[in-house]
Amino acid sequence: MDLKKLAAALIPDSDLLEPEKYEEIFPPRTVPNGAEVTRLAPSPTGFIHLGNLYSALADERTAHTTGGVFYLRIEDTDEKRKVEGAVESVIRSLKYFGIKFDEGAEIESPLNIYGPYYQRQRAKIYRSFVKKLLEEGLAYPCFCTAEELDEVRSMQTENKETTGYYGKYAKCRNLSEEEIYNNLKAGKPFVIRLKSQGSIENKTTFRDAIKGDITVTENDQDVVILKSDGIPTYHFAHAIDDHFMRTTLVIRGEEWLSSLPVHIELHKVLGFKPPRYAHTCSLMKMDGGTKRKLSKRKDPELSLDYYRKAGYYPQAVVKYLMTVLNSNFEEWTLKNPDGDYKDFKFKIDKMGKSGALFDLDKLNDTSKTEISKLSAEQCFAFLKGWVDEFGSDADKAHFENEEYLTKILTLIMGIGGKKRRKDIERAEQGVRLLDYFFDDTFKPEYAYRFDKETVNTVLDKFAQAYDPADDNQAWFAKVKSIAPEVGFAAEMSEYKANPDKFKGNVSDVAEILRVAITGSPNSPDLCTIMSILGKDRAVARLLNGRIK
Ligand code: GLU
Repeated sequence: MDLKKLAAALIPDSDLLEPEKYEEIFPPRTVPNGAEVTRLAPSPTGFIHLGNLYSALADERTAHTTGGVFYLRIEDTDEKRKVEGAVESVIRSLKYFGIKFDEGAEIESPLNIYGPYYQRQRAKIYRSFVKKLLEEGLAYPCFCTAEELDEVRSMQTENKETTGYYGKYAKCRNLSEEEIYNNLKAGKPFVIRLKSQGSIENKTTFRDAIKGDITVTENDQDVVILKSDGIPTYHFAHAIDDHFMRTTLVIRGEEWLSSLPVHIELHKVLGFKPPRYAHTCSLMKMDGGTKRKLSKRKDPELSLDYYRKAGYYPQAVVKYLMTVLNSNFEEWTLKNPDGDYKDFKFKIDKMGKSGALFDLDKLNDTSKTEISKLSAEQCFAFLKGWVDEFGSDADKAHFENEEYLTKILTLIMGIGGKKRRKDIERAEQGVRLLDYFFDDTFKPEYAYRFDKETVNTVLDKFAQAYDPADDNQAWFAKVKSIAPEVGFAAEMSEYKANPDKFKGNVSDVAEILRVAITGSPNSPDLCTIMSILGKDRAVARLLNGRIK
């Protein structure tokens, strides 16, 4: 068979470069010895999940702790699954978690010489190599229809045989020249398959950077390398792209482990040295006592958008994932409570070999701890970031007044004080704590524990006495002075000694004031709250709080 002629008939493109040219166009990278070049290669399906962030973090840390490069490649070979805006969403989501790429799709970088980074834009490169394999007799056209393939598959399943296109089932492997040209003339759609040279009798040992030594059976499947639309499959694109983008370490999910024999063979027939591989284990969760994979259908927490919308502190999510990635990270954080996770020596070979357990409760705890360490400016920036995207119009308006908000946040988060507030795990909870500081969102339901006369007397008297110039002590002295006027004990000791003698005590006076000012019997320091509100609003609240 004239293979050159056949290759030209199957890949008629007149503008293809010689395959060898690409070695010059994409030269080996000049990176220091030991530097790893890693990539995130998502499909633009619009669903960016925790697994992507987990993997991206392993990629990013590996590249950046070794002086290497981390780039973004978009695997858009499946047109049907493509979603508008998905690439922006990947970049935005990862940026939210502080993950930045050095080069790649939509990244402005002088390093972008290994592009294009969208696979659909690389069709020419793939086609040049498919043509080469056809010329070498290492690939062939297959005209089987989907129905024919289904039939074979059912038969194989019934006979308990390995399914797929191989050996005697590889019908188009042995088509004659005449049959091929007749099919082409008849306009039959075709795919290009690899003519596998392997045998399942042969086994080799393969070293995975995470899983260690694994036994791999040689591939014997004539996998599709070019689909009927002229676009390659994942397998083929992976071999070409990771070779020419000079990836040194492919970090990807363990679901790809079963395709490894195909990838090893593809690299071999293409004459490429394969990259090293690190297959990460799937994220699991405990569900009713059993461990199972996180699922898109059942677990909203799998989506990265979940964390953005709920307003988790992004650094907390990253720090928590670091503990899942490297179990010694937790110990490191105990020794370096304020340390930057980037100073931790991340090691790919310390990643778990099986099922990484994701525990939302632990993440929540990490988020609370991280939020409790924020300065007033950091806290403002964090909450504002959430409000800008997900807050109500009222929230947005409130965040225009940074000075006012900084005062409030300093108080309610206990910033600079002896006791930091440690119960806020998400931005939204923090934002709701601000509501009563703004008249438009102050919607009190006054729940006083005392009768109308007592309440109104306390409020009237304090409204008259209140002076914003009073310090805490003077303020409290005035609260105390009201107590006897409503039959309450001014001193706690007095009250404890004779509880039946009084209707209440000084803390009950303060509670009445608190309910009127904040709408709740619990709040941070009331004297400070009143001073933040300012005299007019504080007094107005006291008077509006009277029982009608
Ligand atoms: N596009 C593949 C995916 O999204 C990437 C696998 C890989 O990293 O090689 O699963």
